[in-house]
Amino acid sequence: PKKAIVIGSGIAGIAASIRLAVKGYDVSVFEKNGYPGGKLSEIRCGDYRFDAGPSLFTMPQYVEELFALAGRKPEAYFTYERLEKVCHYFWNDGTSFVADAKPNQFAKDAAFHFNCTKEQIIAKLEQAKFIEETTGKLFLEQSLNDWRGFLNLATAKAIFRTPKLGLNKTLHEVNQRSFDDPKLVQLFDRYATYNGSSPFQTPGIMEVIPHYEFNVGAFFPKKGMVSITNSLLKLAEDLGVRFTYNTPVLEILHDGNIISGVRIQDDGVVHADVVYSNMDVYFTYHKLLKGIQVPQKKLEQERSSSALIFYWGINKQFEQMGVHNIFFADDYRGEFEAIFDKKQLFDDPTIYIHISSKVKKDDAPENGENWFVMINTPPKGTINWEEYIENSKKNIIRKLSVALGEDIDGLITCEEKLFPETIESKTLSYQGSLYGTSSNSKYAAFLRHPNFHKKLKGLYFVGGSAHPGGGIPLCLLSAKIATNHAPAVS
Ligand code: FAD
Repeated sequence: PKKAIVIGSGIAGIAASIRLAVKGYDVSVFEKNGYPGGKLSEIRCGDYRFDAGPSLFTMPQYVEELFALAGRKPEAYFTYERLEKVCHYFWNDGTSFVADAKPNQFAKDAAFHFNCTKEQIIAKLEQAKFIEETTGKLFLEQSLNDWRGFLNLATAKAIFRTPKLGLNKTLHEVNQRSFDDPKLVQLFDRYATYNGSSPFQTPGIMEVIPHYEFNVGAFFPKKGMVSITNSLLKLAEDLGVRFTYNTPVLEILHDGNIISGVRIQDDGVVHADVVYSNMDVYFTYHKLLKGIQVPQKKLEQERSSSALIFYWGINKQFEQMGVHNIFFADDYRGEFEAIFDKKQLFDDPTIYIHISSKVKKDDAPENGENWFVMINTPPKGTINWEEYIENSKKNIIRKLSVALGEDIDGLITCEEKLFPETIESKTLSYQGSLYGTSSNSKYAAFLRHPNFHKKLKGLYFVGGSAHPGGGIPLCLLSAKIATNHAPAVS
């Protein structure tokens, strides 16, 4: 059979390996780390377990699809449940709000807590659904660089002109048009961070994001987020895919404009008919491709935000918190200006806390909780991170101690951390960005790197830095689009 090599075992690399194996390729995956999953892995600290990166699981159908494609029952590998509460929100003035997963209940509760009606919330979720139905397939499920994929160019242009898509407004502006209550505007503005962007810059079309959380659902895998990686890895291995760890690919080899294989550390050259790079496109060009023109414009686009995360083992339980918790900044615009314009951390940051032990009890000792405490940050840049981390930790602890009426510092029994420099060094994501390039422009979708190389036959790109972008569902879709382009195995 034809040979395929996948560079990297991030979620998109594993998904690509499964799809290629199903197509009949003989597939090898080379991973530089000693473990699979890239950002979607886990860490341990004392008696606590943490999912290292993603914590929100949406659009599980794209995971299930891989099992179906391979003719396997998903339940044999992977189980998950829908969360009953989507998020617990807290503001500095003492207000709090729990968003119910059922759209109707969410609308009812919001009308009670905020200055809005139930109908306004329902209309907002309907609008999100409308955008998904109008553009979802077009932008996310096919290549934007192969016009045969569109119904036709004219249709695409007509869709773009539709005022209801909010392409000429920012997300913040469309949210302000929907609601008078600034807290509700802030709640809906936050969805921009789901792809590492700013609500004050990203286009109004991002109104679509709550559709995935409320109309489709927010889920949690029973064995933690890492079980998405582990179960797909098992499926790939069952299909005969070979994984080699601690083995960085050093060069992609080509014979003229035809891909011939890769060079790896000790073993030299490995031949292949097709190569799928799950390495960030920036580093794929700069580190692995020799004598190939670098697409400067694509690679120099603004990167998505990065993050500072503290993994804290906490020896107390907090009834007022849930699986997902947000402690908002007062000055949201100021926070995003700091991240994207000034490239600084903000003194009163919005804090996200994920507590998987609320549903997966064995992630923390009895009476304890595993806190994944994250703030959004600029990409790596030239910041002195050691100094910033110390300052941020003080600000975070101060803010949480006031909000929860408890000295949080005294409850931390163990600590690990992750920040832009270590995100970059661990997963080779340029600048430590979480989601590849940002979506701060309405053209972002068209400026992302396509899933194939236009000149080098047999080279493909999957993962958060390629089309259609970052986040687990989109990474899985990148693998689907890229492998649809793979030549058939005769
Ligand atoms: P990556 O995870 O970036 O992995 C790439 C892999 O390739 C790595 O294992 C790396 O070691 C390997 N590699 C790179 N170069 C080479 C080489 N030359 N040779 C061999 N191996 C190589 N998404 C969500 O959907 N929901 C969330 O809640 C969410 N939260 C997030 C929170 C954090 C803190 C982070 C970091 C990310 C979050 N994301 C979330 C984004 C999501 O994690 C990513 O979009 C996704 O996991 C990226 O997958 P990927 O396939 O692009 O590869």
